[in-house]
Amino acid sequence: MAMTETQNAHRDESKEIIKSTNAVTRSRQRTGYGEILEKLRRDFYERWEKNAPSSAEGLKDFDRFKTLGTGSFGRVFLVQHKQNKNYYAMKVIDKIRIVKLKQVEHTLYEKKILESARFPFLISLEFCFKDNSYIYLLMPFVNGGEMFTHLRRARKFDESLAKFYAAQVLLALEFLHYCDVIYRDLKPENILIDIKGYLKIADMGFCKIVKGRTWTLCGTPEYIAPEIILSKGYGKAIDWWSYGVLLFEMSAGYPPFTSSDPMKVYEKIIACKYKCPAFFTLELSDLIRNLLQNDLTRRYGNLRNGTADIKGHRWFHHINFEGIFNRQIDPPFKPKIKSAADTSNFDDFPESELKISKTNLFEDQFEKF
Ligand code: AMP
Repeated sequence: MAMTETQNAHRDESKEIIKSTNAVTRSRQRTGYGEILEKLRRDFYERWEKNAPSSAEGLKDFDRFKTLGTGSFGRVFLVQHKQNKNYYAMKVIDKIRIVKLKQVEHTLYEKKILESARFPFLISLEFCFKDNSYIYLLMPFVNGGEMFTHLRRARKFDESLAKFYAAQVLLALEFLHYCDVIYRDLKPENILIDIKGYLKIADMGFCKIVKGRTWTLCGTPEYIAPEIILSKGYGKAIDWWSYGVLLFEMSAGYPPFTSSDPMKVYEKIIACKYKCPAFFTLELSDLIRNLLQNDLTRRYGNLRNGTADIKGHRWFHHINFEGIFNRQIDPPFKPKIKSAADTSNFDDFPESELKISKTNLFEDQFEKF
């Protein structure tokens, strides 16, 4: 697949980032990786402030192919830029649906965060435009498919593969939290695997800048933290709970709290009732126990040492965070990809046409997009 501008930018950024990511694990002072996070945060807020409304032109510059996935507010198509020939995932968001479901603010956050965040394991925005009916967000096409698909195919991941992925998700969440962004929807469906076998976390639809607490109920039942269910007001620690669920699901092949009835799932979460399979190593079970803590004063990631407690945990003993951050480690698994436009790692969806209204719908509400 041709390298996009963003991918190249990530690589350049990575070259600068040669100091140890473990530096942050030892101290939260602004040395080593702490300094790098500080710079990435400054860049994030610079882009955030610059945010300009997108143009009403753009769709005609792309050839549209098949649907890659569907979300609550629209669908994601594979498209090719007519001039630069690169492939992109084009998320088409239906303005009517967003207004009906009162999601205008969330969607603006999604656009701004995609536009502002630049991190090796996060998807980023390449183009954005709008027309009378839709908002279009274009991201590099990550052609390895969802982690979810590979996890179901493999049934479960070896702990070494789970650890390789977990390290990337940890660094991505650490970066987002450093920028005061809570992710709020961690799950294998939202994690894509690129051509090399590295991750890109997609779908920033639930991301929010939160300096203290927030109250909105969102997430996916199996991954929701107890404090959200209990409507207590919550903060960044919810992502570390979901991270514990992800660690469990990657290694077991199923999530820790399951039932066909979502209410039962919630009951189990509140009671923190789960059982690690016997084949989990003691280290993995221990790390999960420290993440799936409904007592927030004990949950790893939320304690005084922040992410240092997770990075320094025995399960990550042999992990070279610096090498992973710089994408220098050979991934244990590479998805099979035949060409830049190969969609065989994605499910098939019934196709549907875009119906563009003759009048500009909700023009005022989408002015800032
Ligand atoms: P979303 O609404 O952002 O969750 O996207 C819905 C689905 O579209 C995802 O679960 C992926 O399967 C697919 N998708 C989203 N973004 C990309 C991307 N950049 N590259 C490839 N597939 C994507």
